[in-house]
Amino acid sequence: MAEPSLVAAGEEPEERAIEAALRPKNLDDFVGQHRVRKQLSLVLQASRMRGRSADHVLFSGPPGLGKTTLAMIVASEMNAPLRISSGPAIQHAGDLAAILSSLSEGEVLFLDEIHRMSRPAEEMLYMAMEDFRVDIVVGKGAGATAIPLELPPFTLVGATTRAGLLPGPLRDRFGFTGHLEFYSVPELELVLRRSAGLLDLKVNSAGFAEIAGRSRGTPRIANRLLRRVRDWALVHGIEQIDARAASAALDMYEVDKKGLDRLDRAVLEALITKFGGGPVGLSTLAIAVGEETETVETVAEPFLVREGLLGRTPRGRIAMAPAWSHLGYAIPSGVFAQEQLDLFEPAGDDEPAGDWAPESQ
Ligand code: ADP
Repeated sequence: MAEPSLVAAGEEPEERAIEAALRPKNLDDFVGQHRVRKQLSLVLQASRMRGRSADHVLFSGPPGLGKTTLAMIVASEMNAPLRISSGPAIQHAGDLAAILSSLSEGEVLFLDEIHRMSRPAEEMLYMAMEDFRVDIVVGKGAGATAIPLELPPFTLVGATTRAGLLPGPLRDRFGFTGHLEFYSVPELELVLRRSAGLLDLKVNSAGFAEIAGRSRGTPRIANRLLRRVRDWALVHGIEQIDARAASAALDMYEVDKKGLDRLDRAVLEALITKFGGGPVGLSTLAIAVGEETETVETVAEPFLVREGLLGRTPRGRIAMAPAWSHLGYAIPSGVFAQEQLDLFEPAGDDEPAGDWAPESQ
């Protein structure tokens, strides 16, 4: 199996503790995502002015871009307590009923990976979101009865890496949907500056630029790389991190100039060496790199597509011309560049077109 990617890695308690410490606590400290930030700020301000709990909010986008952070910010900006759970933890409607029935008025309920919730729980959630009410079913078969239970008004914040997998009725019940985009290098430099300040690290501008350029457009990775560079500098007795130190450290961790990590490179390498550049189906590609289909699709692909290295066509995934040269292969004739790929219909894009979902009524 391929080593975990830099985005998916980091489950160690210490890593999580540092990640929590670096999380921005309010909207002003949250870097980038201007459109989502402005729209969310308005939604929250209006709710505060009405003296009501905020409308339900959905955040979508690849891992590490700030969905959990924004959920926490929603709670703190609304001065409300926060309850955290996730789709995979809610396998029965009863699991959800237990959470919902213990919410206090105005509480923010964050459900990460909401697309992975079980179907019965999802249906219970529809009613809870719309009418602040659930039916608890007691007994089985013909003798089963539904006991209605009133819930206090609460705000659901959902997060998903797969907005396309959310059923329409669920998506429609969110009053606001924010789709998070990859961050630019200058934005990642700001994230890094803030984190270096909190970690009391000396890094010069060129050092920040080097790390930001290799961070795959993702704040979580930027922070993680900063910590790896910090380790390297400590061991090498370097006080101020500059571009050379950052570059030497990141080369050692096999993060390349474009920021591709092992999983990204494994995907492109397999496409090129095992499938002649494609097209090949997603599940075959995932098997070839020893990863879950969902990991390849949600962790590796969005960035590779954005960088013009991988193309999604109706016939499968293909390695684009820059992928061949980036990995040091000669580009064979007939390999696509981005402009040619645009002639194809995109293969099932997961993300909704707009940022605003219809108001739930
Ligand atoms: P997601 O839930 O989308 O996977 P998180 O909200 O857990 O991502 O963010 C991962 C880490 O990246 C957080 O610990 C936080 O420190 C950092 N981060 C994410 N977005 C931002 C941002 N806009 N500004 C500063 N730091 C950010």
